[in-house]
Amino acid sequence: MEKAGSIAIKNKSLTFSERFQRYAWILALLIAIGGQFLPHLGLLVPVIMLILMVMSLHKGKYWCGNYCPHGSFFDHLIKPWSKKLTIPKVLRSKAVMLTVLAIFMTMIVYRFIHVMNAMDGMNRFAGLGSIFVNIYLMVLILGGLLALLVSPRTWCFACPMGTIQSFFHTVGKQIGITQKKEQKIAFRHPDGCHSCGKCEKVCPVQLSPYKGIIDTQLFDNAYCIKCKTCIQHCPSRTLCLRLQNE
Ligand code: SF4
Ligand code: SF4
Repeated sequence: MEKAGSIAIKNKSLTFSERFQRYAWILALLIAIGGQFLPHLGLLVPVIMLILMVMSLHKGKYWCGNYCPHGSFFDHLIKPWSKKLTIPKVLRSKAVMLTVLAIFMTMIVYRFIHVMNAMDGMNRFAGLGSIFVNIYLMVLILGGLLALLVSPRTWCFACPMGTIQSFFHTVGKQIGITQKKEQKIAFRHPDGCHSCGKCEKVCPVQLSPYKGIIDTQLFDNAYCIKCKTCIQHCPSRTLCLRLQNE
């Protein structure tokens, strides 16, 4: 069954987000490494941040599973060499998530003040760009090491961008946007699942969608990055993304 599923995945035409996710790692390398020579490239990062904040208001962590350049780097360049271990609970904890966010925000604010005081004119743009270039490089190295030594998407639990998205997702829920736009993993046919556990095995953030759906109809998990890997690998083809009120 698994072989037939894989062939189907290879043969089906890819959507825009699937194509983008496959090659978005080029953007990560361009900013993190190319930015060492052309720091202005780092100015793309605030634009990326703005896009993911708006997207997360509507769709939760959809960016992480479909457009994130670092996620693409972990999935497509590091995964073949990853140890693929269970992500330890401590790395999934709120304490780690908030500590990493605090460290990154402090670094950005400190470097921002330094650039504004020490530079002027066009140099300021290069200085501001270099802040984000270095952040991108740090994530590439840190996240890459975690992907290699633990599991490809380990960094996603601590990523400040992920934390910011979770915050905006909560805001989206409060103001009633997500209910209209957020799709969640669900069963196409209620009795289609035969509890084989395949979706759990392939989930890059190590979630159990089928158990969640059995309990609550829709898989309402804040860590789900909507990558659709579980949908593509379900041998019963019973998983889909669905709006809450469909
Ligand atoms: S949803 Fe599909 S992959 Fe997951 S347990 Fe059910 S049949 Fe298996
Ligand atoms: S539950 Fe499915 S869509 Fe969500 S992160 Fe896991 S594999 Fe991706």
